[in-house]
Amino acid sequence: MSTLYSWSRLAVRTAAAAVGVESTPTKLIFVVTKRCHSRCVYCDIWKVKDTPGGLDHELSLDEVRSVAQANPFLQWIDFTGGEPTDRPDFVHVVQAFAAACPDLLLVHFPTNGIATKRITETVRELRATLKARLVVTVSIDGPPALNDRLRGIRNDFAHAINTFAAVRRELGPEHIFVGMTLHGHKGSTGSTSSELVEQTFAAVNEALVAKNEAPIGWDALHLNIPHFSSHYYGNAASADADGFGGPAHRAEIAAALRLAASKPKPGVSGMRAVERIYRAEALRYLATGRTSIACSALLSTSYLSEKGEVYPCTIWDKPLGNVRTTGYALMPIITAARRDGVRRAVAEGKCPNCWTPCEAYPAIGASPVRSLLALAHG
Ligand code: SF4
Ligand code: SF4
Repeated sequence: MSTLYSWSRLAVRTAAAAVGVESTPTKLIFVVTKRCHSRCVYCDIWKVKDTPGGLDHELSLDEVRSVAQANPFLQWIDFTGGEPTDRPDFVHVVQAFAAACPDLLLVHFPTNGIATKRITETVRELRATLKARLVVTVSIDGPPALNDRLRGIRNDFAHAINTFAAVRRELGPEHIFVGMTLHGHKGSTGSTSSELVEQTFAAVNEALVAKNEAPIGWDALHLNIPHFSSHYYGNAASADADGFGGPAHRAEIAAALRLAASKPKPGVSGMRAVERIYRAEALRYLATGRTSIACSALLSTSYLSEKGEVYPCTIWDKPLGNVRTTGYALMPIITAARRDGVRRAVAEGKCPNCWTPCEAYPAIGASPVRSLLALAHG
């Protein structure tokens, strides 16, 4: 298939979702493994490998190939973890979908950046074999001392910088981002979230320049608001009633988002507009707990766990069925969930409600009118 055809197909399918047509999802969030050698204070995924049986029954490579072949309609896949590259056959996992999904356009994976050599080799191999656009996000959650404390690894910041630089050399600057979650900052430093964002941006660039690498611009720093979930992050128990540490911390996170929005970014692009919409809605979400853009979970997106379980998303702990019982096809499970009113519950805001980037970006595409309104006010 030509890339133009595939993009046209994505546009048509997104437009169909925008008017509520319940077809096959365009995007899948696939947890390839829960292995992870970080020790983040705000996410319990890394503990899974130390839990008896925690890593048992992950989908084998043969099963992953069956998933890919049973769902050839996918056009955008977030391969997440754990640390995706901690799965030894990760390259083959991605290649299985590339081979089975003729209109696959976007492949994204986040990385903790610890194992620079292995991550870089993974990217090199994928770049050489994938036709789809490959995008990587390296997680950095603060300036060195804070980042290393939050992520629980000595010299984590230095490893992440090395990985960022090496992967950027492989992919080019438009395919790699620093992902900073405004998560564990509350009460942990004498600085506000805005100050920490400034400090992180400066520290990343200081470290890159010290290695004779080009600095990043503000467009390469993506800020995420924190989220909690029991079935994915395993951190629901650590969420306070407010979810954000109270109104003062909510205001701090909002100020940090506004700060990043105010920074100069070169050029104009569709992606820049999507980020503005994301930010505008994140501010609304922080203020009211709601967004004006409807979530597209079970409409144009779905989530598959490392053990084959389908959920609406990373947040809502509502198991819908296992692909091991459906010949690895998603649609029997998604169709049943729609029939049982789960999709309606999402549309009516009767799910936990969130504004996670995994779901926000496709939701923006599937809500053009509300997105344009958010852009106008953002
Ligand atoms: S946030 Fe990411 S890197 Fe940290 S423990 Fe969880 S999965 Fe691992
Ligand atoms: S809004 Fe609801 S269904 Fe959508 S991602 Fe958040 S919790 Fe999941």
